Amino acid sequence: MEEQDRSSQSRPPHVLIFPLPLQGHINTTINLAELLAIAGFKLTFLNSHHNHKRLVKFNNIAAHFERYPGFEFKTITDGLPLDHPRSGNWFLDMFEDTMEPKMKQSLREVLVNSSPPVDCIIADWFLGFALDVAKEVGIPIIFFCTSSPCCFWVYYSIPDIIQAGELPINGSEDMDRLITTVPGMETYLRCRDLPTFCRKLDIEDSIMKLIVKQTRKSLQADALILNTAEELDGPILSQIRTKCSRVYAVGPLHAQLNTRLNAKHGESYDHISNTLWEVDKSCIFWLNKQPNRSVIYVSFGSIASMSREQLVELWYGLLNSKTKFLLVVRPNSVIGKDGEGEDVVMELMEKSKDRGYIVNWAPQEAVLNHPAIGGFFTHNGWNSTLESVVAGVPMICWPQFADQHVNSRVVSVVWKIGLDMKDVCDSKIVEKMVNDVMVDRKEEFAKSASEMAKVTNQSVNVGGSSYSNLDCLVEDIRIMSWKKLTK
Ligand code: UDP
Repeated sequence: MEEQDRSSQSRPPHVLIFPLPLQGHINTTINLAELLAIAGFKLTFLNSHHNHKRLVKFNNIAAHFERYPGFEFKTITDGLPLDHPRSGNWFLDMFEDTMEPKMKQSLREVLVNSSPPVDCIIADWFLGFALDVAKEVGIPIIFFCTSSPCCFWVYYSIPDIIQAGELPINGSEDMDRLITTVPGMETYLRCRDLPTFCRKLDIEDSIMKLIVKQTRKSLQADALILNTAEELDGPILSQIRTKCSRVYAVGPLHAQLNTRLNAKHGESYDHISNTLWEVDKSCIFWLNKQPNRSVIYVSFGSIASMSREQLVELWYGLLNSKTKFLLVVRPNSVIGKDGEGEDVVMELMEKSKDRGYIVNWAPQEAVLNHPAIGGFFTHNGWNSTLESVVAGVPMICWPQFADQHVNSRVVSVVWKIGLDMKDVCDSKIVEKMVNDVMVDRKEEFAKSASEMAKVTNQSVNVGGSSYSNLDCLVEDIRIMSWKKLTK
């Protein structure tokens, strides 16, 4: 009887998908949205006015999504004026008071006016207010965690770490002290691997409280989607499942999308770009001229910035190493006195012509998959980390904030596919680590990274864990929306 009713449902489920208005969250969420569009769902992708303007300016995304008749981009305010620079620490500082109330109101309006009605919301895990709105209007909600599961679990455990007296870290403390109260990580998580806001003496810190609040709230949703594979994060997924019964590990999403696009349209994913910066493809021509696995790619994502002094240390370390480099320096990402940051980049470009290549923004996935690349000097944003894992490229980790300190620990001691430079930026150490990964211990790291890539890529192939988990998610959303319709 149930089956008969379900098959008589005449329209596909309508999912509204709502990313956090930041680069690393948007590109992953677009990938998830496309996977659901391939499954035949009607999709509304809710982007901020600001980000959508940039997305369509620098990409072929609008044309790409025309192939899915049920796919629609809608835009709302992120609460800030369009000309706000959105640089520095703007996001966490402005989130609760300025952004959240406006986004909450806009979400409510979109849901109330939507036709056909929205059957299920998938919102970024940080947008806790979406749960309140979903309850108000009676729509099921699933949260999507774009950060690493390990860090999500650490965020969740912070109240327990405090309760056990392992936080705060006092100023004179040994940062290598083990934290024993995060289940599943007792043997490797040290004070220095905790998110940076845990270094503050104040356990009432407002950013810490906000992140813990959003994490705990996200587990009250109908389900949680994680961008990882069982093979990468199995032990931590088991821990998260003790708090939320429906957890779908469907990643790495870019790799899963590649598999499904190939099957559906006979094309690979690499022709789509979903970045908010103009990509400089000239570096690919430069890479084409370099020997196999001879170049280290150096990039710190879309938010992290560095001081002029740090850039100079990094640059000397790279220059003194035995390897060539491709370095990304985003405009305005070097902090110095007026114009000083830009000057130093120009100067370095001139001096390192024979040894390196510098761009403002690279086609990162194409770079990581280029045969000339032998290593990735990264800040360990979760997307960058997964892109490196899938491409089988060993890492040197220089984490800056958010989930990155946890990720670099996992990369170096759990997966053993890289070295963690955490907390220092000294040219001698940079030089030594680059030589280790690219020359002296090259085969050891290449072997472990390639084994990790193999199991990860298997997980997104037909019959693999992430592939099957996505099929379950699709089926469960169909059931949820059918139940909503028949209520
Ligand atoms: N990225 C890129 N070109 C660059 C630097 C970064 O395309 O020059 C992309 C990268 O592929 C990744 C995203 O930007 O998908 C950065 O996300 P991540 O989670 O690594 O770091 P975040 O920017 O959130 O700190």
